[in-house]
Amino acid sequence: MLNRPQIFNAIQQRLDHADAKGGRLAVMFLRVQGLREISLRFGYEQGEQAGEKVHELIVQSLRPVDQVFRAGDDSFVIVLPGLLNQNHVLLASARLAQAFEQPLDSGATPWQIRAITGAAIYPDHGLGADLLCRRASMAVDEAQRRGELHAIYELHDTQVEIFYEELRDAIEANRLQVFFQPVWDLQAKRISGIESLARWTSAQHGEVSPASFVPFSEQSDLISALTRWSINATLRQAANIPARAGLSFAINFSPRVFGRTGTAEQLIGALDIWGVPPTAVVVEITETALVNDLESSMQVLRRLRDLGVRIAIDDFGAGYASIAYLRRFPATELKIDQSLVGAMREDTHTRKLVSAIINMAHHMDLTTVAEGIEDQATQDLLTEMGCDFGQGYHLGRPEPATDFVSRYNAGLIVP
Ligand code: C2E
Ligand code: MG
Ligand code: MG
Repeated sequence: MLNRPQIFNAIQQRLDHADAKGGRLAVMFLRVQGLREISLRFGYEQGEQAGEKVHELIVQSLRPVDQVFRAGDDSFVIVLPGLLNQNHVLLASARLAQAFEQPLDSGATPWQIRAITGAAIYPDHGLGADLLCRRASMAVDEAQRRGELHAIYELHDTQVEIFYEELRDAIEANRLQVFFQPVWDLQAKRISGIESLARWTSAQHGEVSPASFVPFSEQSDLISALTRWSINATLRQAANIPARAGLSFAINFSPRVFGRTGTAEQLIGALDIWGVPPTAVVVEITETALVNDLESSMQVLRRLRDLGVRIAIDDFGAGYASIAYLRRFPATELKIDQSLVGAMREDTHTRKLVSAIINMAHHMDLTTVAEGIEDQATQDLLTEMGCDFGQGYHLGRPEPATDFVSRYNAGLIVP
């Protein structure tokens, strides 16, 4: 196994060579799923043998000019020189995927493993070995997120990687915008509240989706600042709507911030400053996140719930939350993911599933909110099934919070 500087050195030599000849080259990162488990189950010696077998299979799948380096227990770095176009990279990854279709036979019990590859191309995606390796490794993450075996690095997938300072300044200078999307009471057919959604227009890159900058904030240290901003920006607007209207204000929270102390205090302090009652606030946490960070979040959430704050499990049905989690989690409502809601009109199975989720939630004293309602037929189906609340483009798109507040106060928001 080579160490990182040795691998970088070897890649750099290839880069210099490609540069002199004006050629293109790909750096590929290969992560082997299941290799570590061989060591854990059958012992390190067999694990090592399997690692060598994997190395051999990789080399056999590629051209003699390609270079393969073992970079860790379950990872390899591969250099593919002399590329004519991106199809060569796809070809190489297809051959690698094929090599691991059969269980690995390395002396141990035959064992199924999976090879996931990500590639970055020189000079398109970077000029140095370090950057190309990092981007190839990000491409592997992206492939895993999408549930695929291969990805080529794309600037827009990780566009925010270069945004750190700009985003930090935007949050500090209050240059993010808060949008409100209405949430409707499906049974009473009137508006019941809003969900607060962040919007960011970057001077350098135009509009950046929260689906990009929120995960980026979570991975860097910006999530606390973003959360503080969200809470205050939402409640500042909420304070402009008379409390007797009884609207609820849903704020998205990253589970990461619940692991830290001070989040509950921040929310409670802000409620006090803006004069919003705790019962008017819904804390939304995504289901996928629950699974990772359950214990640390639980106490904080329970404390907030005891104060009257409502707790919603967001995107339910998109991840892997089990019934066991639901039983222990101090939620008051369940938001059914838009992937299920979007499919239910066309697909009987999904329709039955959504109906079952609504019934189950009601049995557990949880209210239900359907996300992503895009047409009247879906709204009618959900209303019939007894779903309590609904949200979606058909019922109202997200709009700048100030616009929403003035329309609401003028009595202009009606079904
Ligand atoms: P979410 O909390 O599940 O929010 C709902 C998303 O669905 C929003 O996307 C909304 O614009 C979109 N949406 C609403 N109705 C429809 C519809 O009928 N059809 C379709 N296709 N989409 C619909 P958006 O605003 O891009 O936000 C994406 C995610 O980013 C949110 O998902 C939330 O998890 C996160 N997010 C947004 N703002 C914040 C924030 O201030 N803080 C944190 N921590 N996360 C935020
Ligand atoms: Mg949400
Ligand atoms: Mg959602």
